Amino acid sequence: MNDIITLMKRRLKEVKRSGKKNPTGRIYLPKELVGTYVSYITYQELQQLERDIRRYRTIMNFMRHLLDSKNHTKMFSVISETWNPITGCTHYCIYCWARRLALTKLKNSKKYKDGFLPKLHPEEFKKKFKGGMVFVTDMGDLFSNGVPDEWIIRVIEHIKKFPNTYFLFLTKNPIRYLDFIDRFPPNAILGATIETNRDELYLNHSPRISLAPLPSLRYKVMKELKWDMKFVSIEPILDFDLEEFVEWIREINPFLVYVGYDNYNWKLPEPPLSKTLKLIRKISEFTLVVKKTIRPAWNESIINYKNKSSKS
Ligand code: SF4
Repeated sequence: MNDIITLMKRRLKEVKRSGKKNPTGRIYLPKELVGTYVSYITYQELQQLERDIRRYRTIMNFMRHLLDSKNHTKMFSVISETWNPITGCTHYCIYCWARRLALTKLKNSKKYKDGFLPKLHPEEFKKKFKGGMVFVTDMGDLFSNGVPDEWIIRVIEHIKKFPNTYFLFLTKNPIRYLDFIDRFPPNAILGATIETNRDELYLNHSPRISLAPLPSLRYKVMKELKWDMKFVSIEPILDFDLEEFVEWIREINPFLVYVGYDNYNWKLPEPPLSKTLKLIRKISEFTLVVKKTIRPAWNESIINYKNKSSKS
């Protein structure tokens, strides 16, 4: 594999250095690499190949990390710790467990005594990391509007000091990733929550499910985001259109997807279990899927009961 990468890089450099436009759009490949079967690919294909190889390498490193971890049987538990240098959020999702915790049990604590609006905690920047995977800001959304750019930059500058640790970010406002994309170190994993492909579920549900940007906008941004380690969290899952949702995930091209139902009995508009299992099957064909809480929809037994009684 390393030999192939070296050869590809060398050839790519040659092509770039020559500065000539190949009239056929073809790049002839080193014999050592292709033997007698293929002799050329296009410049665009070569660039794509290079990107794929880079991504593949990053994923392999990540997988190695998972296997090395003591808890590799339960993938979500590879998160070795959470770090909350900034807490709070302005998205007001109805199902937010972090807000509930902050406003109830933790309401007298130093971090949450002023509520759940975004807040910086300077003392957290003394923190050092020694490998593993760190979930950054699970008690809020670091990229929600209301978090100043300088705070985000401070977080990124801090994680740069720890190249042997993976840092997992998760937001419902991924458009802000674009403002910092040149600053993130390669060990950052950039994720977005996309619970459904149906914007109307957000708009029509009463009260509105969240004030975060609509799922379709998150999908568009994540699709365009040029980053090797992207992931998608479909949690808490909301009802969806199977084919379109699978296509969204495919286009985003995440190396990892979490799928799970709501854990807090919010009676959200959930898909039936059989549909979710189909979704998991389909996306497992092209990416790694971590199953979290998977169960029948809260209203499934009621619907089944009604269907049965109307037939009888
Ligand atoms: S985006 Fe996350 S932290 Fe913010 S309100 Fe929604 S669930 Fe809570």
